[in-house]
Amino acid sequence: MKPLIGVTSSIKEDRLLITGLDYVMSMEWAGGTPVVLPNLADAAAMDHIANSIDGLLVTGGKDIDPTWFGEEPHVKLGEVSPQRDHFEMQMVQRMMKLDKPILGICRGCQILNVTSGGDLYQDIHSQNEGPLLQHYQVAPRYHVSHFIDVVEGSLLHQISGSQRYKVNSYHHQALRKVADGFEVTARASDGIIEAFESKNHKFVLGVQWHPENLLKKDDVYAQRLFQAFIEACRQSQDSASQNTQVSGL
Ligand code: MN
Repeated sequence: MKPLIGVTSSIKEDRLLITGLDYVMSMEWAGGTPVVLPNLADAAAMDHIANSIDGLLVTGGKDIDPTWFGEEPHVKLGEVSPQRDHFEMQMVQRMMKLDKPILGICRGCQILNVTSGGDLYQDIHSQNEGPLLQHYQVAPRYHVSHFIDVVEGSLLHQISGSQRYKVNSYHHQALRKVADGFEVTARASDGIIEAFESKNHKFVLGVQWHPENLLKKDDVYAQRLFQAFIEACRQSQDSASQNTQVSGL
């Protein structure tokens, strides 16, 4: 059986559940069976989902409520979604406890960090000293606009097979303090964190860019990332850890 991948979703105008089709398609392309997850509040339902899926894709979206990391809203903070924040953070905790694979993309990367005790720049351009690159590109989504430098020997390096390549960029927030148990594994040339990963789990990786938009351009690094994620989910599915149940978080 193909591994079952939970794909998180956004709430639009308090009435629609939406997620990017590219997230869903990329999971299917790499050999997984994607299922889109609603932003439930019930703990038992979250336990059930975490015990059932083989991997979690935490997708991109709007901003994260800064009160989760002890700050009040900066004037440049965008739209937030408390219900979505809560669901994703709870799901990340459960998946990490089960040591099942998590891939966080953009906002999903930030959710991983905040859940684990790290924090964010609410707005990189007004909270950073010195000039930054354009991290909210004006180019099409499939265009790779800035370089990242990848840490040698990291999971991301093993996956990509490269220490320097270009990615797309659609973010005005970014990781600031990285959570304990994680390490930064890629940065842009201005120092902004572009990827980080857990030191204590088999596959818990966050990327600040949007690889799901690059598959249609046959971007080899996006292909390798999704293939590696689905392979990790397949191994998780096969392993004895599948029998471990989580409850009562
Ligand atoms: Mn960027």
